[in-house]
Amino acid sequence: MKFYSTNDASHKVGIREAIFRGLPADNGLYMPERITPLPESFFRELSSLSFADIGFRIARQLLGQEIPDEDLRTIVDEAINFPAPVVKLDEEKYVLELFHGPSLAFKDFGARFMSRLMAYYNQDSENDLIILVATSGDTGGAVAAGFYDTPGIQVVILYPSGKVSDLQEKQLTTLGKNIHALEVAGTFDDCQAIVKQAFVDQDLRSQLRLSSANSINISRLIPQTFYYFEAYKQVGPGQPIVFCVPSGNFGNLTAGLIAQRLGLPVHHFIAATNDNDVVPQFLERGEYLTKPSVPTLSNAMDVGAPSNFARMTNLHDHVMGLDHPGKETHEAMRRGISGYSFSDDTTEAAVREVEQRYGYVIDPHGAVGYLALKRWQKDHPGTRGIILETAHPSKFKPDVERILGHSIDVPERLARLAQQEKVATAVGTDYATVRAYLLDKFR
Ligand SMILES: *Cc1c(COP(=O)(O)O)cnc(C)c1O
Repeated sequence: MKFYSTNDASHKVGIREAIFRGLPADNGLYMPERITPLPESFFRELSSLSFADIGFRIARQLLGQEIPDEDLRTIVDEAINFPAPVVKLDEEKYVLELFHGPSLAFKDFGARFMSRLMAYYNQDSENDLIILVATSGDTGGAVAAGFYDTPGIQVVILYPSGKVSDLQEKQLTTLGKNIHALEVAGTFDDCQAIVKQAFVDQDLRSQLRLSSANSINISRLIPQTFYYFEAYKQVGPGQPIVFCVPSGNFGNLTAGLIAQRLGLPVHHFIAATNDNDVVPQFLERGEYLTKPSVPTLSNAMDVGAPSNFARMTNLHDHVMGLDHPGKETHEAMRRGISGYSFSDDTTEAAVREVEQRYGYVIDPHGAVGYLALKRWQKDHPGTRGIILETAHPSKFKPDVERILGHSIDVPERLARLAQQEKVATAVGTDYATVRAYLLDKFR
């Protein structure tokens, strides 16, 4: 399988290059050259397949024959070693829990699969691959957990001192082994500037093998398609299925669109956002106007310029490289996707409503999804809506407890973190110190 750039379909690379490069040089995004529906036999067997079986079949379909069966099976088994259960709220509403991985959020699927693929392609090289990441909080945690103990890969995470939550800091600084935390006396922008300097430092790169773990890496989207099939398997035959996706950069929703192209019978998608409503506005009016993000309760969705938008339009036959999708693309997208946005006040009320009605504690991101599904189903009864619950409520414990007025359960692996000791190397904002650290540690 080749992967092309959304800015130039004639620019094609293999999966290995797509993963290690992350972004094509033309600033497009990589997409698989062919997304072919799975055979009917797959859907006939689906009810008897395990989550990992499903993952293997889909990975094979999206990656082509490049990786031998046995190796691909190992990659999928290691990456997808936790379940994605569907919980029924009522006849029309279901929740797909994507938070059973190590960092308690759906990003674990992408991070774990990407790390295993990188390790696979790195296994024959003599030197370790060094992944450099700057984080403002959440992505760093998923990358740390995803790459933890991966052979041949070292991860260096730069985070701004005092500007991430205690829990986030623990997720970055307590794992040890191949995960190294640098606590930067500065801002997230300083962290990012240091990482950028390292990548353009040819002298450094001649001595160390550096790579990034970018959130728009195509290898992250692939495993995110698996759980759409897994959810469909669990709810079984019946009324038409719609997926409601709490969205920020729209990676999750894009993965859903890919699942649909792979033959999954999805009746409709619902894009749920907080006040950062660029995509719902676009669906409504046909104008794509990015804007600075505004902070909200569902902060993992605070995105003013969703990075996967180019992939979404591309899947709807948008002409390559144009910033603004034309009328036909807009109409095609509206037929398949409805978008709604909700304020923090409404979201808080929804967290309470879901607990009162269903006895289910939902996190603020999932609550935005609940609201959007409810709104859509008002006009479309007789459907089964599956809300993607993107994080465990205890990740947002102070807010959820304040909203509900009582304490909530914390999974043991999270509770254990609080007891563990932070290990981080304090550095300033100058590049030279970080450079010396890298050479000293890894050369
Ligand atoms: C990243 C994230 C989202 C947004 O997902 P996208 O794929 O960027 O749309 C939603 N909820 C949580 C908890 C997240 O961490």
